[in-house]
Amino acid sequence: MEQKTIENITVSVRIRPLNPRELASGGEKIWENSGSAVIKDKTGVRSFIYDQVYTETTDTQEIFINQGVEVIEKCMSGYNGCIFCYGQTGSGKTHTMHGVRKTNPGVVPLSIDYIFNTVQQSSNKEFLIRCSYIEIYNESINDLLNQSLLNLQIAEDKRNGIKIIGVTEEVCTSSAQVNSLLAIGEKHKNIASTNFNQRSSRSHSIFRVIVESKNTFGCTEVAVATLNLIDLAGSESANVHGPTANSARSKEMKCINRSLLTLGTVIMRLSDKKNNAPIPYRDSKLTRLLQPALEGNSKVSIICNISPCNDAFDETLSTLKFAQRAKKI
Ligand code: ADP
Ligand code: MG
Repeated sequence: MEQKTIENITVSVRIRPLNPRELASGGEKIWENSGSAVIKDKTGVRSFIYDQVYTETTDTQEIFINQGVEVIEKCMSGYNGCIFCYGQTGSGKTHTMHGVRKTNPGVVPLSIDYIFNTVQQSSNKEFLIRCSYIEIYNESINDLLNQSLLNLQIAEDKRNGIKIIGVTEEVCTSSAQVNSLLAIGEKHKNIASTNFNQRSSRSHSIFRVIVESKNTFGCTEVAVATLNLIDLAGSESANVHGPTANSARSKEMKCINRSLLTLGTVIMRLSDKKNNAPIPYRDSKLTRLLQPALEGNSKVSIICNISPCNDAFDETLSTLKFAQRAKKI
């Protein structure tokens, strides 16, 4: 029987530094880690335990080594995996996932380098690496490598599993080649929107690396695994109450709510060994697409990004609760 255990899911929290706006408005830092896995608010009333808590002095490289490498290594040996960044807009998701090229690279470029180093150093295995880059916006899957491919459909069959019909999959043989794909994707994200920041905070972006591997000698069986690197839509939309400004905004929020709430439920059910309730993968495109990378022997790493500032208290608390739900036994 397939394993369905909590060991396959790790949940960490990254606290970013106070930003210039928070500093200028006299914002106070109210969240601190106490011990490597515990986060407390200053009053000591709230305290949460995760696999790891990272503070503003931690760089992404360290987070990648502790929270990412295991997921990548499992993919290189044939198991699907996901690394997510979850949190409100401005909490540091894109900084963690993409970072700043050269000076402070994020999880995506670090993963790519790790993958191609492994490929180069491997003497007994051959690899074929393909990449795609998509966004899910208003429950529509769009190809970030080809602007004309919008609203792509998901197909599922026994032999091929879950596929996105017609999505661009580029065969890649070097980090440099993948980086240029990433640049194309970023450009398309920009063009797709009149207000880049707003649009990007309302869509999930998923960089996918499909790793095919086979032993060079002997066995000819090919293992296929997909690594999903996900910069989620801002979680604040999942908590906003009251009337919304306009219908476009309200549709966006409904879609984000649905997918983030479904993601939370799916992950919670996967971590709950005692509960045999059905897992609602089909309730959102995000979870449907990621199903093969969440279930079974897949490896999942969730990095929850938060601001340390008092004025973000409610959003931070909601992120910490999501993280706790994901880790529930
Ligand atoms: P999000 O993607 O969650 O909306 P961003 O990653 O864009 O948030 O971060 C918002 C701002 O804060 C950016 O200017 C980013 O460079 C900065 N930032 C985020 N996290 C950190 C960090 N750990 N260290 C330094 N700057 C950070
Ligand atoms: Mg972002």
